[in-house]
Amino acid sequence: MLPIERQKQIKRILESKKTVKISELSNELQVSEMTIRRDLKPFIQDGSVMKTFGGVSLATPISMNDTAKNTCIFCHRALHQKMTYKLIRKNAETEFACCAHCGLLRQAQLNGEVTHAICYDFLTQTTISAPLAFYVMDTSLDTGCCKPQVLTFEWQDHANKFVKGFGGKVYPFEEALSILQHTMQESNNQCHIK
Ligand SMILES: [Zn+2]
Ligand SMILES: [Zn+2]
Repeated sequence: MLPIERQKQIKRILESKKTVKISELSNELQVSEMTIRRDLKPFIQDGSVMKTFGGVSLATPISMNDTAKNTCIFCHRALHQKMTYKLIRKNAETEFACCAHCGLLRQAQLNGEVTHAICYDFLTQTTISAPLAFYVMDTSLDTGCCKPQVLTFEWQDHANKFVKGFGGKVYPFEEALSILQHTMQESNNQCHIK
């Protein structure tokens, strides 16, 4: 089977199942998991598919149209595409936060009501599942969004390299959130210091 045909089949499987394991795809299409990963790469890059633990799921891409006229759900600042953090609630409602700072705080506010959270990798701009991302805080690079600033990375290795150059620390999702909540309490919940 040609890769292009296999990719079409993968898309079809994903459209019917929404979430699928790499091993399932490899069994079903009779090719190695490595081949499946290679086939999936362009979908992950264009944001139509996102990674989950051991598999992939169909993503609702963050499109310009969705975000262009919107403001951040948490701080009401205008959204800028490449930092957007998207939350999908149980009632299928979609919310956008201006950056991971607001995204994390909003997610905490909604408690268990969020079914998916998607953000962008700071370096590659691919969409990633927020709970699997690595969060860089206290870095010297200022993107001009909310403080304390939170940047998201798909790979721990990239986050570590970034921190080597620009300073800061790398945290997993839960830890980033608790540090953020703590710092926000200390600064009277001001996310824009003027
Ligand atoms: Zn915001
Ligand atoms: Zn922000």
